[in-house]
Amino acid sequence: MARYTEAVCRLCRRERMKLFLKGAKCDSMKCAIERKPYPPGEHGRGRIRESEYLLQLREKQKARRIYGVLEKQFRNMYAVASRQQGIAGENLLRMLESRLDNVVFRAAFGASRNQARQLVRHGHVTVNGKRLTIPSYQCRKGDVVGLADKIKQNIVIRHNLDTIDRAAPAWLDVSKDAVQATVRDLPLREQIDVPVREQLIVELYSK
Ligand code: SF4
Repeated sequence: MARYTEAVCRLCRRERMKLFLKGAKCDSMKCAIERKPYPPGEHGRGRIRESEYLLQLREKQKARRIYGVLEKQFRNMYAVASRQQGIAGENLLRMLESRLDNVVFRAAFGASRNQARQLVRHGHVTVNGKRLTIPSYQCRKGDVVGLADKIKQNIVIRHNLDTIDRAAPAWLDVSKDAVQATVRDLPLREQIDVPVREQLIVELYSK
């Protein structure tokens, strides 16, 4: 399974905004955006010529990086989203938001999407009582996402449950006692709080 393994803070610096890829560090003064609020690399502080294409590209990269999806998979998701009924950009965001690793993150079982993804890959996450190790699994209405009994008392999980102060979205019913989350419904666009202008992604892929 391919995944991005380089430094992630430079991704935030490239997008010139916090993408919250590292859990607690993102809210501290150690955050690279606080210390170096300009793009990485030798020419990071140089003048950038703005263009329509650049805006569209940056928006697509931002969405990809927030959800930790590689280019090919992202493009495939867009192809599926554009064939569905409704607005392609909103369909795409809904698909990204319904990924199993994102649901684990939204339920605050993982400090970051990366950590949530690792929990899934290592077999600590169940869907409707069955272990599932596919981070890209599309959760459906009524799915119950939980953690396996063995990991519930793990010190990292307990720490996450006790300290993460992230409100669960309206489309997810989270029970911290039972360490499980139920998908009430698929998310609507207004319930997805990522700073992405999906229309620009559609324009990019429609060229
Ligand atoms: Fe981004 Fe978090 Fe790194 Fe800050 S600490 S640059 S928000 S990943």
